[in-house]
Amino acid sequence: MKNLVIANWKCNPSSLKEAKNLFNLIKKQSKDIKKTEIIIVPPFIYLPFLKGLDLGAQDCFWEDKGAFTGEISPLMLKNLSCKYVIIGHSERRKYFNENNEIINKKIKAALRNNLIPILCIGEREEEKKKKKTKKIIREQLENGLKDIKKANLIIAYEPIWAIGTGNFCDFEIAKEIKNIIFETLSKIFNKNNLEKIKIIYGGSVNFKNASDYIKKSEFNGLLVGGASLKSQDFVKIIKSIEKLNNIKFK
Ligand code: PEP
Repeated sequence: MKNLVIANWKCNPSSLKEAKNLFNLIKKQSKDIKKTEIIIVPPFIYLPFLKGLDLGAQDCFWEDKGAFTGEISPLMLKNLSCKYVIIGHSERRKYFNENNEIINKKIKAALRNNLIPILCIGEREEEKKKKKTKKIIREQLENGLKDIKKANLIIAYEPIWAIGTGNFCDFEIAKEIKNIIFETLSKIFNKNNLEKIKIIYGGSVNFKNASDYIKKSEFNGLLVGGASLKSQDFVKIIKSIEKLNNIKFK
């Protein structure tokens, strides 16, 4: 199983020219990468113009088409050769009031269109302080994946307090959460399906801490925000992962 390194560009950069430039630099500097899967997740409008690396979208609607002004459907994304879609990112939960029920509808819509959902889960700072992390993680998985028995899926553990703060999660704690995610998933999916699901980490990943989330915490990859906007930093992260032997999924 290849390790994943996913770039979430969020609402950046502000022009197509800059987007193409960043994409092409990453592509050029990572041309010798063989064992690591690189996925770029730009804003929707740049998707048709970026070629040569796997692409994902940052969100999708739960219907395929119709009178839903402003929405982008999973069918449209599939037709653009998009392979992945982030669903339930904490910024969507926070600023757009997305709850587990909405997220569940979006996951089903993505799967129906053969997109691979990257389901983001994670606790807020106050929930961590109140020792509610396990409860939140279980609820987000059980409700976000409600009535789904079969899925090609990626789960991204992104503690909200770690996103964009420089305050990344301790490797041992991250490993404990990874195991809780795996246990919860094993109650939802059968063994065959479970083996296909990747669990990745996101939250202030940089080129210094990246490989330890694979080596020490045994994640199957990384979701990178801020550091994916600088090609050199992002490629350093990819190269640090490429150096590692793939850790077998347990
Ligand atoms: C993210 O928002 O998905 C993320 C991981 O951001 P950052 O790497 O900037 O913490």
